[in-house]
Amino acid sequence: MRLIFLGPPGVGKGTQAQRLSVQRSIPKISTGDILREAVKNKTSLGLQAQSFMDSGKLVPDEVVIGIIRERLKEADAREGFILDGFPRTVPQARALASMLRQDQLNIDRVLNFELSDEELIRRLSGRRSCPDCQAVYHLEFSPSLKPDRCDRCGGKLIQRSDDQPGTIRSRLEVYRSQTSPLIRFYEDEGILARIDGSGTPETVYRKVAAAVG
Ligand code: AMP
Repeated sequence: MRLIFLGPPGVGKGTQAQRLSVQRSIPKISTGDILREAVKNKTSLGLQAQSFMDSGKLVPDEVVIGIIRERLKEADAREGFILDGFPRTVPQARALASMLRQDQLNIDRVLNFELSDEELIRRLSGRRSCPDCQAVYHLEFSPSLKPDRCDRCGGKLIQRSDDQPGTIRSRLEVYRSQTSPLIRFYEDEGILARIDGSGTPETVYRKVAAAVG
């Protein structure tokens, strides 16, 4: 099963992708996670991406397309994958389609997660993440057992630099202008499913499971 999880930052697509990945034994591939890891390790990719990420802008298409091209060649992605945070522009979507076409493959379904801006801001500003294992918490909705410590690996939780109020606003604007046209793009292909992102992770997961069959 080859899936794309589409939606604005903070809508919960990463959380849902993680659950589905475990349930269906297919990898979740998140360009945001790959880029954050590169920034943490100060690789040349990380150095190239950091200023875009810190200001809430998109990393250039050719950079993220290159990341996905390499990642999809890995053995674990052969039987399927969940793309979380990619594609984010129409050129990225076209590049993905042409990559898959070369192997006579295609995307089975695109899940578009929807939520009001007010709720997105609430979710993003309370989000805390573990820089060591990428686990995600929320101060109010899913706090860690010990304050500031990751339940999974004990790492010190941080607020992502792009989850600060000013940057959140730019990311939502970038989403509206550059990413939301993909809704129409995949609707035209007849593979889009709309998912109401409000409610608990369990409620949303039931809708996700129903949409992917
Ligand atoms: P995310 O964790 O998906 O919210 O991504 C965090 C940041 O990484 C974004 O604000 C962008 O700067 C960058 N990024 C992640 N995925 C992409 C993508 N597909 N295209 C361009 N930039 C991306």
